[in-house]
Amino acid sequence: MTDRDLKPLAEEFSSGKVYCANCRHCKLVKVANGGESQYQLRVRCDAGKWRKKLGEEKVHKYFTVIRRTLDHCDTYEPMGEAQDFLKELRRDLPIKDELYT
Ligand code: SF4
Repeated sequence: MTDRDLKPLAEEFSSGKVYCANCRHCKLVKVANGGESQYQLRVRCDAGKWRKKLGEEKVHKYFTVIRRTLDHCDTYEPMGEAQDFLKELRRDLPIKDELYT
């Protein structure tokens, strides 16, 4: 993906939203997959806010983290100015679910 493929974040950024990617509780984890030394990247909310219908914890694929937004979260702890952070993150995120070794 090149910068040309990215819509300017300003077009999508909403200062009224909570971006989980900019929250201290949003943690990057490795999940084993495939062979012994292969893994994929997932994100989890260590405040326990991401749940499936039956209550189990839900994790999301890392490359989608920038899309995790909420109108409000009572445990949101921003790590800094969201728009700048998200702009850099967006540049560095993989474009699909990669398998790492
Ligand atoms: S605490 Fe709220 S804002 Fe932070 S990662 Fe969890 S759900 Fe997102």
